[in-house]
Amino acid sequence: MRKPMIAANWKMYKTPKESLAFLDEFLPQVESHTASEIAIFPTMSSLGYVIEATRGTCVTAGAQTMHWLNEGPYTGQTSPTMLESIGCTAVLIGHSERRIYAHETDDMVNLKLKAALDHDLIPIVCVGETFDKREAGLTEAVLRWQVAVALNGIQGDLCGKLVIAYEPVWAIGTGSVATPRQANEAHAIIRHEVAVHLGQRCSQSTRILYGGSVKPDNVANLMAEPEIDGALVGGASLQPRSFLDIIRNATA
Ligand code: PEP
Repeated sequence: MRKPMIAANWKMYKTPKESLAFLDEFLPQVESHTASEIAIFPTMSSLGYVIEATRGTCVTAGAQTMHWLNEGPYTGQTSPTMLESIGCTAVLIGHSERRIYAHETDDMVNLKLKAALDHDLIPIVCVGETFDKREAGLTEAVLRWQVAVALNGIQGDLCGKLVIAYEPVWAIGTGSVATPRQANEAHAIIRHEVAVHLGQRCSQSTRILYGGSVKPDNVANLMAEPEIDGALVGGASLQPRSFLDIIRNATA
């Protein structure tokens, strides 16, 4: 029912030239790929190039962040209208690195999610607890709160449109991947909270990706869990071979 999604977050890596070199090697290898949806989130300066290079392929290109307004005096920001105008179809919202370094709050995540839906951008809303919150036994409370605020006031039929990424902060870029069981439990909490706000049908059609130190050799065990519908991959998505291995192993 939920088609897996494997997404690459390139963070602040790769110039346009490097992005296109990646795609030259990568795209021919996924030409006939149908087992999962593939998405790539390059840095803003490479996004237009990646959109053009992936047009007509099975790869979706998206932005790593955006503002929620269409225009205004906000230096350094990019709006949903601007993303739409260059053919962008997806956006990451509330990645923990944005929350930590750009001070994005749960309320901003909510505004961005509404804007993404208004502009038909596929939103990948990132949530996840810090190490301290997990140690304090607060994982469930954090996840429920983040999802509740993100979905506050969201109306309409979101069936199949919403994607959430569970990214425990302690697992991002650390090599400490969550166990499949830990991830599955967290995904079940998130799915339950989506059901509280958007109903059971929508919750069942919402894809929940796991992110945090996903590698070719751990993705299959994660994907074997019933609540895990894909992966958001940072470091291991930067090399075509390793990202291809993750895509292949995810649905093997
Ligand atoms: C991420 O940045 O979304 C991520 C999951 O990073 P990494 O795979 O490097 O932990």
